[in-house]
Amino acid sequence: MADKKLRTTQKCNACAKDEDLKTCSRCKIVKYCSKDCQAQDCDSHKVRCKKIKRFTSETQRLDAALRHCWNDFDECYDNLFEKAFGRFGMSSMYDVSTKEYLHNRFSRTTEILNVAIELKDKGLFEHVCDELYEMLRLSHTDNFGFRSHIPSVFLTVGREDDCYNFIKWHLTRDDDYDWGEPPESVEGNELDFFSYL
Ligand SMILES: [Zn+2]
Ligand SMILES: [Zn+2]
Repeated sequence: MADKKLRTTQKCNACAKDEDLKTCSRCKIVKYCSKDCQAQDCDSHKVRCKKIKRFTSETQRLDAALRHCWNDFDECYDNLFEKAFGRFGMSSMYDVSTKEYLHNRFSRTTEILNVAIELKDKGLFEHVCDELYEMLRLSHTDNFGFRSHIPSVFLTVGREDDCYNFIKWHLTRDDDYDWGEPPESVEGNELDFFSYL
């Protein structure tokens, strides 16, 4: 999970002001315009804040471990992001579970999706979309069902052509157990944000 993918919200989580914002130091997702706003929002934010922090740090820890995994012969390290690409969630031959990694990353993404819905934050929806897509690329068997969340997020951010291509790909796969690579994003007609809400 590269840092460039970590996006934050663009409005104060309490009053929706969009200037002079500081990021919550724990979850690093939501922002506040002042200490007062942060204090006022504390009760409603703290449970989700803790969860995001926990899932983020677990995802990062496992991410690093999966990039330096002993191979079958204990001779050298494998980078599972290359070696097990497309087979995440299936492999039981390594000490560090790719399934556990996906579980944490998906849990984090689900919490962030809830923040995006509450704040109607397009940047966060795009982040969720990127995350779901990347996890589906890592896990062609899609044991977690990422594919069922992707169309609605595409529609929410107005990426109608991407949504259509994705559903078409999803419905015309021959093999139920290996979905293969999802379609590339298309430069299509972007509808107004939230035109479907
Ligand atoms: Zn505020
Ligand atoms: Zn927070």
